[in-house]
Amino acid sequence: MSTKIGKNDIENKTLALVLESLPVAVMAYKAGILLYANDSYHKYIGPEYSAIMQPGLRIENFVEQLYDLHQDLETEDAELDRLHKTDKAEWIKRRSSAYYEDNNFEQYDSKFGWWQCINKYYPEDELYIGIRININTLKTAQEKAIIASQSKSEFLANMSHEIRTPMNGIMGMAELLQNSQIPGKEREFINIIQRSGQSLLTIINDILDFSKIESGQIEITPVPFSLRDAIEDIMALLSTSTRETGVDLIIKIDPNIPKNYIGDVGRIRQILMNVIGNAVKFTHEGHVLIDVSAITPNSENPHTNLQDDISLKIDITDTGIGILPIKLAHIFEKFTQVDSSTTREYGGTGLGLSIAKNLSILMGGNLTAQSTLGKGSTFTLNLPLPVSHINTATDAKPTAPVKGNFLVIDDTPVNYEVLKGQLENESCKVVGVNSAAQGLSVLKKALETDVKIDLVLLDYHMPQHTGEDFILAMRKHTCFDHIPVIMLSSVDTDVLKKRVLLSGVQEFMTKPARLADLQKVISQTLAASAKPMPLAARLAQPNHNPAVQEDALAAKNRTDVQSHIDILIAEDNEVNQMYMKYIMEELGVSFKIAENGRIAVDKWQLLQPKLILMDISMPQLNGNEATQKIRSKEVAMAQVSRVPIIAVTAHAMKGDKEKFISAGMDDYLSKPVSQLNLIKKIQQWAPSIKMNIPTENLNQAS
Ligand code: ADP
Repeated sequence: MSTKIGKNDIENKTLALVLESLPVAVMAYKAGILLYANDSYHKYIGPEYSAIMQPGLRIENFVEQLYDLHQDLETEDAELDRLHKTDKAEWIKRRSSAYYEDNNFEQYDSKFGWWQCINKYYPEDELYIGIRININTLKTAQEKAIIASQSKSEFLANMSHEIRTPMNGIMGMAELLQNSQIPGKEREFINIIQRSGQSLLTIINDILDFSKIESGQIEITPVPFSLRDAIEDIMALLSTSTRETGVDLIIKIDPNIPKNYIGDVGRIRQILMNVIGNAVKFTHEGHVLIDVSAITPNSENPHTNLQDDISLKIDITDTGIGILPIKLAHIFEKFTQVDSSTTREYGGTGLGLSIAKNLSILMGGNLTAQSTLGKGSTFTLNLPLPVSHINTATDAKPTAPVKGNFLVIDDTPVNYEVLKGQLENESCKVVGVNSAAQGLSVLKKALETDVKIDLVLLDYHMPQHTGEDFILAMRKHTCFDHIPVIMLSSVDTDVLKKRVLLSGVQEFMTKPARLADLQKVISQTLAASAKPMPLAARLAQPNHNPAVQEDALAAKNRTDVQSHIDILIAEDNEVNQMYMKYIMEELGVSFKIAENGRIAVDKWQLLQPKLILMDISMPQLNGNEATQKIRSKEVAMAQVSRVPIIAVTAHAMKGDKEKFISAGMDDYLSKPVSQLNLIKKIQQWAPSIKMNIPTENLNQAS
């Protein structure tokens, strides 16, 4: 035998040294017999058992010896832990089998603490490798982190409560003031307090809910409720914000699913309010559709199994701005906003969806999202709910029957589908077209073929010709005089309502109309139309042609000649705009407001103000970018003198001042702006501006 050390010997020795130096316990059994256990393993097992861990030991013998060692043992296998107390033989058998398969578990015993056990079995070599890692430190850190997180959540929950109490005082007092005899200007101030207070409360409520979810304090209180009522209530609230944009809010509920359920309607409303609220916020044209159906276990006979428990599926689809795939992946994480830049256009805390998702899961459901950038998004709420057999008040049917041939004119096909679904039955036929021109053709065709059209349901907001154009054209034909028209509009202003009622519409309803209300209005309109109507009087009204009005508007704009001003205020927040407006009016200076950075640059060029007050966070161009644009234009147009620009910002962070200055601003004022500080800055930077300084500020200002 050679004494020379070969390559294999070096490798074996190196390998053995590596294994011996590891702070991780390692052992190997071949065909159920111990081959090797490293130094750390001997330490892990303790001196008593280390003595028996000698090569040649059988797994089963070792496990039997371990039996006593495993007192107070806690593994993730509760059944095994139970066997330890009740059946020694079975425990040894089961425990030994862990050496013949791959597995990975955590284990705790009072003597050695927490260990991560990793077992690998290679059947072709009958080789078992066991690895044991001490995770005591990790476990302690994890426990500490959980406790810290819980106390943080509890602290947040308590703080939010504490903040809410004085907030309620402020809001309550503001409301009392509002109800008292207060002159115009002060009334506006109170309005601002109320609106700002309301948005602060929304944020506080979000934080409160979020902390409650994190600390497991949310309770679900199920009560019977009507699903349609809950959704229609939310839509009625949200329709105020779509009235100007004309975005259609559409509710489509599968008529075959039960009407009433048992659930925490407050929390369900909160989820829907958040998701639908977002859809409305991020959609500037098109529609937001709420489509309610049920996931059915039996597709051939879809609703037979839906008697007691139903899995509701509520899709909220919008035709809005959409979400980038990379952002979509994190949309339900807390504090996530797709746009977190200073140019962001939309407010919010980024907590809403995280709360909504957590609430859905808490109720046994889920909330998911799909989206295409630039096309729109669909959020899907799945919710298992028991069916309630208690009828709610709104289940009552309209008094007079709804029957006849209805013509629906709406450019959004889904609106037509929904109306058709809601109204069509044996005694109602619904025909739909998507433009005013087609609507007129259908009426003419019906006349020629002697088909009676009993009612027209007319959308207002349509491309090319609006519902108003249609009604004006229709009422010119005396043969259509008798057909009543109900206008459904997502644009809702008193002026519009008055105008269309005068031009021959019988009823004006705001979209989305509640189904019960719609049925009631239809039945009343049909009943009234059975009597002859004096339409001539209506047609004799002054001309309400919108084209004429548009001309007047255009003429007004043309005469609105711009002149130079003292101060340009770049500010996107409506409330801050109002506040600045009042300060400026009180000081008697001339001013204009620019709603974002881009408009500020344009208005600066047009109005040549003596001073600019520049907000930092604004859509399109933020304050820094707008300032840079102005400064570079000033250089390009050498004749223009340098306008002083003062940053007005809530970003009162260290280093921010330097950022404003390097962007080209001259000074900064932090929000909330006090009138006195503003006066001082105006005096410093634009002394030529004449101000009426209020007496209380007079001494301090000069
Ligand atoms: P926030 O209160 O800030 O709106 P949310 O958690 O409700 O917070 O939403 C997080 C972000 O997800 C929003 O700021 C927005 O960027 C994005 N988002 C949510 N819903 C939509 C939607 N329907 N269309 C486009 N973006 C959306």
